[in-house]
Amino acid sequence: MIVTNMSRANDEANQLDQLYKEIILEHYKSPHNKGTINNPDASVWDNNPLCGDEITITAKINKGVISDVRVDPKGCSISVASASMLTDTVKGQTVVEAKKWIKIIKDMMHSDLQVSDDELGDLESLKGVANFPVRIKCALLSWMTLLKLLENHKGGQ
Ligand code: ZN
Repeated sequence: MIVTNMSRANDEANQLDQLYKEIILEHYKSPHNKGTINNPDASVWDNNPLCGDEITITAKINKGVISDVRVDPKGCSISVASASMLTDTVKGQTVVEAKKWIKIIKDMMHSDLQVSDDELGDLESLKGVANFPVRIKCALLSWMTLLKLLENHKGGQ
């Protein structure tokens, strides 16, 4: 009986992993909001030399609202997918809200998540990355680059 329950749980875990993989690959194959904005209010390039990931983020920020954000990510599936999900998450949000999300993703990579899966949406698929310390920087690259962009923009005003 116990064995049966265990194997069912394992099957469910595998299916979940498969779903996560599919979500990550979908974003990787066609990242949302890909490209660069002409005449952006803020622009930052950064990289993760450990993996070879690179990203440029450009944004339009008006009165504390990120009205547009575009990413030009190059690298592994996790870094590209995370950047794509970032644009879905912060586009149209306030700078304050975006910073809240940056903290949520950082906490998630330290398995210290404070929000429900419902609120995470596709970002839930990155939860498993916390189990692979070498990939955490891949998942966080775009978010840390966005933080830099938001800090730079505040300084430039
Ligand atoms: Zn990577």
